[in-house]
Amino acid sequence: MKLHTKILLAMGIGLAVGLGMNLAGNPDSPWFVNAVWTFNLIGKDIFIAALKMIIAPLILASIITGIVSLPSVQELGNVGSKIFLYYFATTAMAVFIGLVAVLIIQPGKKDASQTVRAEREAILLTYRAEFEADTGNDPLSDEHAGAYRAFIAQKEGEHIGEGFASKWSRMKSTETRGPLDMMREDILRPILTNPFTSLAKNPPNSLGIIFFAMLLGVACVLIGEPAAPVANFFTALNDIMMKLTLWLMEISPYGIGCIIASLIATLGIPALIALAWYCTAVISGIAIHILFILALVSYFGKMSPTTFLSGIRDAWLIAFCTTSSAATLPVTIHCTTEKLNVSEKISNFTLPVGATVNMDGTALYEGVAIIFLIQLFGGLDDVPIALTFGKTLVIFITAVLASIGAAAIPSAGLITMAIVASAVGLPLHYIVIVYAVDHLLDMFRTSTNVLGDAAGAVIVNRLEAKNLT
Ligand code: ASP
Repeated sequence: MKLHTKILLAMGIGLAVGLGMNLAGNPDSPWFVNAVWTFNLIGKDIFIAALKMIIAPLILASIITGIVSLPSVQELGNVGSKIFLYYFATTAMAVFIGLVAVLIIQPGKKDASQTVRAEREAILLTYRAEFEADTGNDPLSDEHAGAYRAFIAQKEGEHIGEGFASKWSRMKSTETRGPLDMMREDILRPILTNPFTSLAKNPPNSLGIIFFAMLLGVACVLIGEPAAPVANFFTALNDIMMKLTLWLMEISPYGIGCIIASLIATLGIPALIALAWYCTAVISGIAIHILFILALVSYFGKMSPTTFLSGIRDAWLIAFCTTSSAATLPVTIHCTTEKLNVSEKISNFTLPVGATVNMDGTALYEGVAIIFLIQLFGGLDDVPIALTFGKTLVIFITAVLASIGAAAIPSAGLITMAIVASAVGLPLHYIVIVYAVDHLLDMFRTSTNVLGDAAGAVIVNRLEAKNLT
């Protein structure tokens, strides 16, 4: 049986088991708890952890191998400029498509979403009363509006659930930092870091590893023969990592089946129904964006969409289930080189960079989520925001930046969404509302991120084909 058939079968079995448990099982019963524990052990603690184990050495070895195998340093410039242009253009297009989808579908105005607004209004009424009782001031007067909003934010902070606490503190840190602080703390510092620290961090500091690997690779090329042992060492390390990837792909169906079973068994169906239109907007935007990527692959990459999709499907499915582009990276490299015939020179260099900075699905999702939240909650006590053209433009720009800043790990897009929310003045506690369906949407956005990275490699490979020999 082919690997993707096994993966699909495992997904089907996981879906059936998870659905059966969700509908008929009691989540507090010992057998249910034990079953979910076992699924998580196999799916997350063994399969995803094993994929993550090889990311840091793989990124280092793969980028160095890519650079030293290019015919010249100038060729690195050609590949680099083309791939970054592609990343930027496709990410911007993704946000644009998402904005159009959410503005047309208007998920925040649908009846199903109104129950969420009504619940929120009821909570705000209690806050108004508490504020008035505590301070003796009118919460709705212009004079006290700021203090009232701070009061709500503080109350919400106290109610943040246990599972969300660490995400919440990371999101909150965005509120007090300006763009320059962010550039310094989120880009400059990670880039210029001791490479051993970058490799040892969990998750690894990909930006730091990429930058160090690029310097090392370019230096090896410029030094030439005396640096050959180092270049050869990393080329061999890269081959070894790809061998480990093949082993991991063999066990992937078991991991994936368990991940799906655990996800579906514990999925909150009521939250899914309330946010169904929002999910529809994200997923339709993603579907349109995939068509756009396929058109680019066929026009610039001269590859038919079916060839591309069938070559990349193992990586696409693994990204869908692991919700981490970084964990999928070894498989993405394998599929693009072995099945799509992209030169290793291109894929080894571009794919680790793409997994770290090019996230079309994440960018699209961030724009849709913030507009949905404004549609749904706009006009409430602490959301005095109207969706003007200017605000939409701010969302467009910050969603692109937030996707670049998101780590290639599960739910990272939800955290960096705080950047977009702060830019338009949406209180961060509203983001917690979409958390209920975040995992599900992360599956769609991560697989789109990986698809976009692979498409970039195919296109640049085709455009640079004659310079590569
Ligand atoms: N999980 C995504 C990825 O790894 C990032 C995100 O949360 O959007 O690509």
